[in-house]
Amino acid sequence: MIASRYNYYIKHGDLTIIFNGISERFIYVSNKNIDSFRNLIDNPDVNRDIHPYHIDQFHKNGFIVDSDYDERISVNHKYSYKQFKNIYRIMLLPTYECNLRCWYCTQKHESIHMSEDILKRVRLNISSAISSGKYATIMLDWFGGEPLLAYDEILALTSYTAQLCSKHNMTFICGITTNGTLLDSEKISKLRDVGITSYQITIDGIKSEHDSIKRLSNKSAFEKTLENIRLILPHTPCTLRFNYTHKNLKPQELITQVSERIPENLRKNIRFSIHKVWQEDVCNINKSDVNHLFTLAKDNHLNPDMPSYDMCYADQQNFFCIFPNGKVGKCA
Ligand code: SF4
Repeated sequence: MIASRYNYYIKHGDLTIIFNGISERFIYVSNKNIDSFRNLIDNPDVNRDIHPYHIDQFHKNGFIVDSDYDERISVNHKYSYKQFKNIYRIMLLPTYECNLRCWYCTQKHESIHMSEDILKRVRLNISSAISSGKYATIMLDWFGGEPLLAYDEILALTSYTAQLCSKHNMTFICGITTNGTLLDSEKISKLRDVGITSYQITIDGIKSEHDSIKRLSNKSAFEKTLENIRLILPHTPCTLRFNYTHKNLKPQELITQVSERIPENLRKNIRFSIHKVWQEDVCNINKSDVNHLFTLAKDNHLNPDMPSYDMCYADQQNFFCIFPNGKVGKCA
């Protein structure tokens, strides 16, 4: 027997988490005992007679595997169906600029927009993917910065792709991730007409907290965003992503405020997606608050979900991002 090549040792305060990426099992071990555990896992044949129970448990849970077992076959099997081989998917960042300055934002907001030359190359790329006959579906994801600062470019390129897909009898899926403050009824209707099929819009807590993070000079970003979501939902699904820290995790108040603004008959098109802000230490979070929020969202028909640690979109075979300067990469 040998140690799995997919064991990961992640230090977490006084503990170390030993995680196996194939079985997705994990154990917590105190840091003072981690060397002994590591020795057991890394040298199963030596330790089998001395610690048979532990070696058996590690084997059953995938931390130790048979010497002639090729784990890469399991990995390929596990993920091959998620490669979406017949989907051609592009995430487009038309600009890094944004009208807001959220404290947790990872963008530097450089003042770059996709030039007409880059947009022309994107159109060429899409048309050659469509005419290659290799794909059944084309997916575009608009992202930023705030993509709606390039509203005209979004309309033009989305419309171009939708029409080409229709001509070739292909499925077209197009989502946009936006802060929601630049929308209005006319834009929502035009975006729907050209082919936007889903939205993702973030809230950062109850009204006072959201407005202190997403500051607009003359109005409440919270009210503007929820008003726009109300206009989107009758025709288009919207993920309402809640970014939480220990400070803004106020389940009852938040669900009350959201429910007051989104009528129950529109909620079948909403997904309330609960995410920790990446800079927040998980140790600061009261897990029962997160569970309570999930339950309240469910009871109020807001269709909650939480991130599942599965394959990243960047791993999809025919997925890539195009940045405002025309560079191409795998992750935004
Ligand atoms: S709205 Fe989005 S892009 Fe704009 S500052 Fe906030 S996180 Fe960054």
